Amino acid sequence: MTRWRYAAATDTGLVRETNQDAVFVDDSLAIVADGMGGHAAGEVASAMTVEAVCEGFLESPTVEGLHTAIETANESVLREAQENPDHFGMGTTVIAVGLTRDDSGVSSPTLFHVGDSRAYQLRDGALRQLSDDHSVAEEWVRMGRLTPEEALTHPRRHQLTRGVGVEGSIDIDVLSVSAQVGDRLLLCSDGLSNELSNESIARLASSPVPLDDAVSELIEAAKQAGGRDNISVVLLEFDEVDVAAMPIKKTTSSFAPPVAPPVRAGAQSSQRYRRFTWRVWAGVAFLLAIVAGSYAVLHWYAYSTYYLGNDNSTIAVYQGQPSGVLWFKPLKVVDTQYSSAQLRVADQIDLGATISEPTLEAALQDAATLHNEWKKTQTTATTTTVAGATTTLKRG
Ligand code: MN
Repeated sequence: MTRWRYAAATDTGLVRETNQDAVFVDDSLAIVADGMGGHAAGEVASAMTVEAVCEGFLESPTVEGLHTAIETANESVLREAQENPDHFGMGTTVIAVGLTRDDSGVSSPTLFHVGDSRAYQLRDGALRQLSDDHSVAEEWVRMGRLTPEEALTHPRRHQLTRGVGVEGSIDIDVLSVSAQVGDRLLLCSDGLSNELSNESIARLASSPVPLDDAVSELIEAAKQAGGRDNISVVLLEFDEVDVAAMPIKKTTSSFAPPVAPPVRAGAQSSQRYRRFTWRVWAGVAFLLAIVAGSYAVLHWYAYSTYYLGNDNSTIAVYQGQPSGVLWFKPLKVVDTQYSSAQLRVADQIDLGATISEPTLEAALQDAATLHNEWKKTQTTATTTTVAGATTTLKRG
């Protein structure tokens, strides 16, 4: 059995006249929906959604059941918005976590999410945001068009890219949440996350007080910070976790340090079903191309030169840079027939370092030329010796 304890509350806040948020929680399902639309329409959308999700999950407490429930909610809200002029243009966010059962009866928490209401996981005081906001500004952050700091004040930070009741089809993020006994999960509307810093949310949501008190303190803090929107909070704490449900590999990996900057939910703690898109593969392919390209350029540079060196008193031609390039060591390609000793002194010193050519032929030519240069000096010396043996002997 996986079991949680729970507490929840919703508050109109200090500025809005009505509360268009809706919350629901019991021992296997938790929902926050943040409705939008003129007059009372937002309230209708969020209430209809909570109702449809509860009904669908009751019928089928599985991943598929909850997914279908949200699709049903989407259809209901959209139909109501189209048929009733008072409700035109209404919509809502939804974030829901259900203890979904698999075929073997094992239950584990699965998160479903559309819009900018959020889910956070709290473990050992560390806060991890599990959901990505479906807002224009946050999508742009993920695309690299904005920095997270710019997104905080961007005019399109509240403009949603996805919602319930907006279009005929709905794209739902679904992720399986890794749970350990003592972990808390926080679901909230943006009335909380816009008013409080991650540090405040982490501190208040993980404070070792009864869940009800933690929820009240979160709402109170959001109101003190301005309370400009409706504030909804659901706080869950796991008492018991189905061992079979624990994605063991995932939970052993790194976890954010306490009160770290917001960390995107990733493969470390949550397995994503739908978000591992072609973009990820494109990114991986791009990186591989860069690595392969760099390797090719390095390899080309490393072996673009032939130089003369000494090998067992013979002049040899090596391919490569005399001191090597990273792990590309020079390779001996040819032993010439010339002795290293049969070179002018200056050429002997240069051997192995500075006599290099772009091709093997040119390097072989060098070896021959240097040998011939040495031979000339020998001939000259011989001639000198013949012409004046005494002088030469003295010199030697
Ligand atoms: Mn809101």
